[in-house]
Amino acid sequence: MDMKKLLLFSFFSFFLLFSLSAQEVERYCGTPPGIVDWLKSYQENPAAFLRSPDLLYVPLTIHIVGNDDGNGYFPVSRVLDAFCTLNADFEASNIQFFIEGEFNYIDNSDYYDHNFGQGIDMMQEYNVPNTINCYIVGNPAGACGYSFYSLGIALSKSCTSADDHTWAHEIGHNLSLPHTFSGWEDTNYQDFEQTPSTVNGRMVERADGTNCQNAGDGFCDTPADYISNRWPCRADKLSNALQTDPAGVAFRSDGTLIMSYSYDECSSRFSVEQTEAMRANLLGERSFLLYDQSPATYLEGWEAVPLTPMEGALITDVSSVTLEWEPIELAEGYIVQLGLLSNLGIEIIYRTFHTTENQVEVTNLLSDRDWLWRVRPYNRYDGCAPYSNTFTFETGNFINTTREEISPSDFHIQPNPQDAGGTVVVEFDLPVALDIQLNLYSMAGQRIHGVQLNAHYGINKVEVPTENLEPGLYLIGLEHAQGRQFRKIVIQ
Ligand SMILES: [Zn+2]
Repeated sequence: MDMKKLLLFSFFSFFLLFSLSAQEVERYCGTPPGIVDWLKSYQENPAAFLRSPDLLYVPLTIHIVGNDDGNGYFPVSRVLDAFCTLNADFEASNIQFFIEGEFNYIDNSDYYDHNFGQGIDMMQEYNVPNTINCYIVGNPAGACGYSFYSLGIALSKSCTSADDHTWAHEIGHNLSLPHTFSGWEDTNYQDFEQTPSTVNGRMVERADGTNCQNAGDGFCDTPADYISNRWPCRADKLSNALQTDPAGVAFRSDGTLIMSYSYDECSSRFSVEQTEAMRANLLGERSFLLYDQSPATYLEGWEAVPLTPMEGALITDVSSVTLEWEPIELAEGYIVQLGLLSNLGIEIIYRTFHTTENQVEVTNLLSDRDWLWRVRPYNRYDGCAPYSNTFTFETGNFINTTREEISPSDFHIQPNPQDAGGTVVVEFDLPVALDIQLNLYSMAGQRIHGVQLNAHYGINKVEVPTENLEPGLYLIGLEHAQGRQFRKIVIQ
């Protein structure tokens, strides 16, 4: 165990001791409390640190973690939704993120649902140097997300949507920011009759800001905040909860700050001082992250043009269909959504694909269906593009002769025997839609009755009248291009 890991562990044994109750609650942030050393020295003298007016581009490595069987991956389409929100959250800070390299898929149940020790192992095993490593998992140590300043961040799938600011919050931590309620982590403000002047060794910030440089998060443009559980805001984005500072002054917390614990619908910004600290961190201690400052390219004014199948085409071979479209300028990958129309005319998403080429192969389509598809381009800077217009094709009522066995199963007739004049129901199950001839024969082989069926995938039921039949034994046959099957029926 190297020194860094040892330090993290000792930090954690302390952290876990006094945060057991919070671990049971979801949607918390698991970042260790306290002010990182770099920020302590920065806040003592911000003027001594580098500044720049430039837009800063920061590389992210995105690790998508599934279980041992490769299940549970967070879909790339949703990564892109959250990535779009992340860059919007950092736009005012003049910091933008780009996706370095391919998405890294990891199959490991111990990492998919991990504790902090396993999270450290995961990051040490897979971290890509000189990037911010982001691991999207099923359960990051019971939290919504957390950040280790020197390692990377972990995010819960359930807290990483387009409407969440968890990713921005954890990257804020990773670029040195503490919570706005720093010192109050895992401590319930309401447990105190009189607000103390220090909490967990940290000076409590006064509502009038007089001690702001040394209290709370150490920033003077983030007002006092003592709320260390998730909280809703009022219409003015301030907390419902009224708090009283050590001098007896009442105040409400500012819910617009991403580094608070306000609900995601309240928060939207970093303060100016928070932004200056993150930028100084990037320009100084984290300058290794700034190796590629190529200007971003954005997907704008694009249009998807389908190549195959042609719009509205009828597909006769359902075993394999290639969806291909003209490459979209500046795109580095695509999400492809394939839907089919239900019997009620409602689109059902059938499959979603992620590809870095301008095509995907779809195998084993259903016969006799109307299909819809659309593409969504992205590149390393831009996850915000919507899906294109919808294209359509249909699959016909054709048999794919390369299939092993296309034939009806569960073929039976009810009731059997039946009284003359009654109706019998012929029932059978099909693996694909199929043109079938249903015939009624005498035992001598004479065809008495026949009907052509456009039988569909799944269970089919056909009523056959018997009013003109003499009592006796008959055959009902299902006949199609690949074979025929018969059942006997008794009319009495
Ligand atoms: Zn946090």
